Amino acid sequence: MKEDVQLLIDLQELDQHILKGRKQQEVLRAEQEDLNCKVQKLDAIIAQLNQEIGAIEQERSTLNQALLQEQDNIEKAEARLPEIKTQKEYLAVLKEVDVAKKQAKDVQDQISSSDDALATLEEDRLEKQQQLEELRENNDSRANEIIAELKEIDDALISEDIKREKLAKHVPDNIRKKYELLLVRRKGLALVEARRGNCLGCNMHLPPQFFNSMLKKQGIDSCPHCNRLLYVLPQE
Ligand SMILES: [Zn+2]
Repeated sequence: MKEDVQLLIDLQELDQHILKGRKQQEVLRAEQEDLNCKVQKLDAIIAQLNQEIGAIEQERSTLNQALLQEQDNIEKAEARLPEIKTQKEYLAVLKEVDVAKKQAKDVQDQISSSDDALATLEEDRLEKQQQLEELRENNDSRANEIIAELKEIDDALISEDIKREKLAKHVPDNIRKKYELLLVRRKGLALVEARRGNCLGCNMHLPPQFFNSMLKKQGIDSCPHCNRLLYVLPQE
């Protein structure tokens, strides 16, 4: 086998390893993003619940004030009763007390339903907070694993890139350019063997004359079907 052929085989092996490392990094980064995304989603739900709870608490405090006011009205009206001289006036004050009592009852009912709503929301918030805590605990260990894995791949890629640069220098420019272009277009498989008259990249049959001349030359050719670089192994 010619030197160029072995060089290209070695280069492609290295490139495939580099591509695999980059792909792994992409997958890990996507997972990292996914972990953050889940936390952010729960954070947003809790923030929304906090807002709703805050609004109800405010409403609740307004209702409490209204209730105190009605109770005060009732007390004041009732305190006036012993001093009243006429029947007409007496009835009017009784009616006033009645109205105030009814209003107090209405406010009391509103307070109860606010309390119910508040309890439901608080329960929901607690549940989400627990989920978030669990998620954070799980995420933390996985997040650290991902960081370690990314670092490991990074280190490997740095030394592989250096190795690649050295190797690529020895490949003739015209072949290297063609190879690199094909590597991108053919998803990491730019160079393939031609065996028993077939291209092992596209599995198409090569013209017999073309294949025979390849066997004689033992060099690098292009597949007439898929354009990949072809080599043959010496016949035994
Ligand atoms: Zn082919």
